[in-house]
Amino acid sequence: MREKTCTICKEPFTYKNKSKQYCSNACKQQALRNRQKVKLKQSIYAMEGLNGTHNVKLINRMFNTCIRQTESMCKGMSIHYSIIIFMKKMIQSLKLNAPVDSKLKKQLDRMKGIMTTLYKYSKNNQCEYGYVCFDQRTSNNTLNALNQIKRLRKKSDSNN
Ligand SMILES: [Zn+2]
Repeated sequence: MREKTCTICKEPFTYKNKSKQYCSNACKQQALRNRQKVKLKQSIYAMEGLNGTHNVKLINRMFNTCIRQTESMCKGMSIHYSIIIFMKKMIQSLKLNAPVDSKLKKQLDRMKGIMTTLYKYSKNNQCEYGYVCFDQRTSNNTLNALNQIKRLRKKSDSNN
């Protein structure tokens, strides 16, 4: 009979069979539970990672759509006030779902600023049917701000 230390309870135990790792059935069960816990944790991490990247891809795609839509709104297109509200809310929820402290979140925050300005403008300048067309100054300011965001987005693309 030889002696070795149980990997679970750290108590010394005697063994006949060299492959025996645990002092008792209880410790053997505990070891099995530990392994299952690790597996579960690993799969949870893997899932979170996957969802994380899917989220970012989706946010980026919707963000780009919002930028393009806002650009066309600044090119003399008359739009309904409700579209602005919709886009403002969309940017807000994209921002909420963007990874904490990310460049993407900061870019969305800038976009939110643009949407707030356009929202205020359309609140005061819509026709009786709720349609609005931005004046030259608002359009130019917005397009400039959008170009800045697009530059930031290109830069963070090449950094990744
Ligand atoms: Zn043990």
